[in-house]
Amino acid sequence: MLKIAVSACLLGEQIRYDKTGQRDRFITDKLGKYASFIPFCPEHLAFGTPRETIRIVLENKHKKVITVFSKADVTEAMNRAMEHELEKIKKEELCGIILKSKSPSCGLGSTKYYLKEMSEGKKDGLFATLCKEHFADFPIEEEARLLDPWLRENFVMQLFAYHDALNLQKHIRTMNELVSFHTAYKFLLQSKHEGNYRLLGKIVANHEKKNLSELTQEYLTLFKKTIAHKSTIAKTVNVLQHMVGFFKKELTSVEKQALHMQIEEFRDEIVPLIAVMNTIEFLAKKYDIHYLLGQKFLNPYPKDLALRSTIQEGK
Ligand code: SF4
Repeated sequence: MLKIAVSACLLGEQIRYDKTGQRDRFITDKLGKYASFIPFCPEHLAFGTPRETIRIVLENKHKKVITVFSKADVTEAMNRAMEHELEKIKKEELCGIILKSKSPSCGLGSTKYYLKEMSEGKKDGLFATLCKEHFADFPIEEEARLLDPWLRENFVMQLFAYHDALNLQKHIRTMNELVSFHTAYKFLLQSKHEGNYRLLGKIVANHEKKNLSELTQEYLTLFKKTIAHKSTIAKTVNVLQHMVGFFKKELTSVEKQALHMQIEEFRDEIVPLIAVMNTIEFLAKKYDIHYLLGQKFLNPYPKDLALRSTIQEGK
């Protein structure tokens, strides 16, 4: 099971300023089958519920937390509560963080800042800023951005890959396990960042004869950075063509033609990625191509999350 820290209101806790929640069904019902959640809410901890709304006001470049009606400066109470919530989630072996959009605390690039009474644009909320500072190269998203299928696909893929990385770190015993891990992630890494994929290959080759724990640490640091990249249609098409290259000789001319046509249709956003994936998987099974069947790229997360099923996911 994955462990994900989540803004408590997204889990349905009636903890917002007006004592409501904002349950997100994708998180609770879909991801909830595979993840346990660590809720946090710095504002409830600092001010209780219900409470007066707050906003972030910039004063001489310093961020102050001011209540909207009574104009009280509550920065210190907020800072204390945020530190407490950060310490709480730091203790967990997290695979990701999901934040509530637009909130002064939790928004990720969607929080309004003010200069006196005037809006000063949108940035990260205060708690989101702390999380990003503490958790580098980590799967962090806000729920509103997860409505975009491509961002959601990238995020969920990153969550599961991060989980695999944590497991490898904990249980690795032999060099071969690191080689197998790298092999299984080959195409997925290539779809993210070809240059980093090559660098990871060099780390695994271990010409400097480093010990296993040093090597694994070095590998996973770059691995996490690489999976944090968002893929594109062009990179994905490249990877698909590369995969086809593995069993081109076995395919009949009809199969070859059908597969190439499907890849082109994916590039033109006529068919979704899942259609191409299913065909490759079917043919890899038919011709017994184990190397492809073991690729995470074909199954990066449980199938019932079904994120690859819409055309827009190729954006
Ligand atoms: S502080 Fe964050 S978790 Fe708490 S109610 Fe606001 S958005 Fe939700």
